[in-house]
Amino acid sequence: MSEAKAKPIGPIPPYFASIDGELAIGGKTASALVAEAGDTPLFVYSTGALEARIGELRAAMPQQLGIHYAMKANPFAPLLGWMSARVDGFDVASGGELKLALDAGVAADKISFAGPGKRDRELEFAIANGVTLNCESEGEAERTFAIGQRLGVAPKIAVRVNPSFDLKGSGMKMGGGAKPFGVDAERVPALVQRIIAAGADWRGFHIYAGSQALDAEAIIAMQAQTLALAAELAQAVGVAPPKVNLGGGFGIPYFPGDAAFDLNTVGGALGQALSALPDILKKTHFCIELGRYLVGEAGVYLCRVVDRKVSHGEVFLVTDGGLHHQLAASGNFGTVIRRNYPVAIATRIDASADEVQSVVGCLCTPLDRLSDSALLPRAEVGDLVAIFCAGAYGASASPANFLGQGAALEMLV
Ligand SMILES: *Cc1c(COP(=O)(O)O)cnc(C)c1O
Repeated sequence: MSEAKAKPIGPIPPYFASIDGELAIGGKTASALVAEAGDTPLFVYSTGALEARIGELRAAMPQQLGIHYAMKANPFAPLLGWMSARVDGFDVASGGELKLALDAGVAADKISFAGPGKRDRELEFAIANGVTLNCESEGEAERTFAIGQRLGVAPKIAVRVNPSFDLKGSGMKMGGGAKPFGVDAERVPALVQRIIAAGADWRGFHIYAGSQALDAEAIIAMQAQTLALAAELAQAVGVAPPKVNLGGGFGIPYFPGDAAFDLNTVGGALGQALSALPDILKKTHFCIELGRYLVGEAGVYLCRVVDRKVSHGEVFLVTDGGLHHQLAASGNFGTVIRRNYPVAIATRIDASADEVQSVVGCLCTPLDRLSDSALLPRAEVGDLVAIFCAGAYGASASPANFLGQGAALEMLV
């Protein structure tokens, strides 16, 4: 088999080892983890990797900066419980996520709830529990006041701002121009005045400009613009905001050629910016909200080779996994050009890569390709395949019921 047509794969995250020739996660081999879980496909989330990542973040970021977990990246209950003791806040985006966070033991006063289209019963659930609502519109604010009045509670409300800038190089733009998210910056001061006049507890601003940027300079520029906007809005309101959520957007390397995000450069610049704030923001508490950066690289998806086929000279490893658990790795979740995530044969982790093979799933659709023409150790039926960077937007953001397949197993080790 020629190596010439091999397509590159993304970088394997640095948190894993090998034991007895197998990929090891948290000191256990892939085979042992699958035996413990009872079946494949299986998502394994490593607390060692999570711990390392949070440690790197805390070391690089200014000490006073709160680090929040945007739990839509991975709402697995044991992971939420583990995370609750280690981050400063949780950002939820639905009533269902709010319930999961509360059930995992997250304190209500550490939770903020963003997201367009919050229904009255979701607002009521949040208000009754003392959760901060990141308000997405004037209409939502009025519904919030009415529910607060009915419950006899002053709702906690921060205003989500739709900034006029976006995060350059962002995988998913969520600010700049017409958006369903947040309130256009020029209308924010009037809304804050209205919140204060209505007797609600105004908590500050939430300004989120995008996701999955690997360029430190783009993040630094976005944070500088965010701080300037927060200052401008606070001046216009004439009241200091208790809190400002600066958004997130820190990316992880998924694809060939992607370089890890330069955390120290960003942390240094943010530290400088926070030490030179205008008076109106001097007492404000700042936080960032991260999803994939916290959990993405800590997760590995393990699936088993059930067939090995050759078609027109191309070798297919047909697995029991697929896009129903790994929509993003298959290239069908917001990507323009399909590229390979990091992949390995978990049961032959130290073997030399000697054959070009494509890893496909078990779904009857040509979309179901987990890696395309990667040079890997020759695998046989029964081997385990590992797809890395599976800790965020995997299990929860893939169509598990497609073709009647059902959910994967998940475990935290
Ligand atoms: C999705 C989302 C996040 C998390 O994005 P990541 O790319 O996973 O870090 C944070 N904040 C808001 C408002 C979001 O919608």
